[in-house]
This record gives sequence, C-alpha cells and structure tokens, in this order.
Amino acid sequence: MSGESPEGRAYVGNINVSARRARKLLLGDLKLGKLVDWGTAFSLWPVHLTTSCCGCEFAAAWSPRFDNEQHGALPWIGPRQTNMIIIEGTVSKKMACALRLVWEQMPQPKFAIAMGACALDGGIFYNSYNIVRPWQVVPVDVYIPGCPPRPESVARAIIELQRKMRKKQIASKFVEEGWRPDKEYVMPKEDLCSWWRG
Ligand code: SF4
Repeated sequence: MSGESPEGRAYVGNINVSARRARKLLLGDLKLGKLVDWGTAFSLWPVHLTTSCCGCEFAAAWSPRFDNEQHGALPWIGPRQTNMIIIEGTVSKKMACALRLVWEQMPQPKFAIAMGACALDGGIFYNSYNIVRPWQVVPVDVYIPGCPPRPESVARAIIELQRKMRKKQIASKFVEEGWRPDKEYVMPKEDLCSWWRG
C-alpha cells in the first residue's frame, strides 16, 4: 500500500512488498536503473581461469599495446571481489570443478566469457574423454571464437558484453528482482568435484 503527500510518497504495509515498490520507483520511474547499468558495465573485474594457451592472448589484451583497461575492465585475483570470469581455453573435467568453485564465490550479478575454440566446443580436443563444455558448468554470456583469438577480440567481447548489459538492463533488473531474468540458472548434471573428494 502506498500513499501520496505533498512531500512525496510513503510506503506502508508488508516490508518486502514496500521495498520492492520503492526499488521499482527508484530504478524504473526515476531512471536510476540506467545509472546502475552504466556503472556496472564499466566496472568489470574479470577473474581469469587460465587453463591453456589462450591465457597468453588474455595477458596481451591488458598489455600497454592493447590496453583493455580503457574499456572499464581490470583483471582481479579474488573471486569474491570480481563480477566477471573469462574462461581461457580448454576446460577439462578436473578444471570444471575449479571453474564452478570460483563461479559460486563470485557476487551477483556476474558474467562469463568463454574464450577460444577449446572453450566453445572442445576445439582440438573435440570428442576427448576429459573435456567439459563451459556452458555445462556456468552460464556463458559471450563466446570468443578463434584459435588463438587475438587480444582485440577480447576487447570486442567485453564491449559486446557491456552493450548486452545495458540493452537488457541486467544489473538494474537484478537489483529490482534479485535474480537475472535473462539467463537460466546452470546446475552441472554431474558432481564435478568427485575426483577431488576421492
Ligand atoms: S583455442 Fe587454441 S589457443 Fe585457445 S586454448 Fe585452445 S588450442 Fe590453445
């Protein structure tokens, strides 16, 4: 329930319903959502899962020559302070466990980029017994094709992700709804860490 007064609007009643309406007013009617989406798009802190040779191209993407920092993304080391993961190359069954552990530690809203032919569909390890597709472990937002992908294509993927985040208003909708309506929740079908527990 809400009431209007000359000074503004008062929300009373169920606290959860009132909080939801207040969020909707701030993020929707008052257009603060655009600010949230803009700020989140240019505050990407990618943690990187270097499993193979694509990692060299990732490193080059933040070198002075290519300077991906100019796009508002700076690699970070701790999963708990990052909101984006870049999966660089092959994901083996053993690394799939690490990928899922890192992903679960990252705060929401979070994003994933899969880099290289190996991360798309196994690449040169296609049909190998030990390969897992990243999309079977985490919800991937953007794929970078190529073997190896050039550093410029990492920049292109980041710009594409930012465009998608702002167009679909992912961050502001997350603040409003508490989840990402544009993405299905991915739960791995098999226990990825069983090898580790023995
Ligand atoms: S896509 Fe090519 S460069 Fe990247 S990890 Fe696979 S083999 Fe290496």
